[in-house]
Amino acid sequence: MMGDFVFSWAEDEDGKIVHVDSVPNGKLCRCRCPYCHESLVAKQGDIREHGFAHNSKDRQANLSICYKVTKVSLVNINSSGGI
Ligand SMILES: [Zn+2]
Repeated sequence: MMGDFVFSWAEDEDGKIVHVDSVPNGKLCRCRCPYCHESLVAKQGDIREHGFAHNSKDRQANLSICYKVTKVSLVNINSSGGI
């Protein structure tokens, strides 16, 4: 399915990479997109997998870029021996 990304990692207020399960649900997560720094909402408790979503729904077209970049940077973090 198109646009079915699981965005499990985000940046918290301190710029630390955090997992969706380690933050409060919804806007209370106070996380930002590591790529565009837009505020994110944590989606937990769905039937679907947990993940972050951008707060603004107007930018859907750009969001896949964020997901891709986030994935790439997480791969880099992993291969360089952790955060
Ligand atoms: Zn973004």
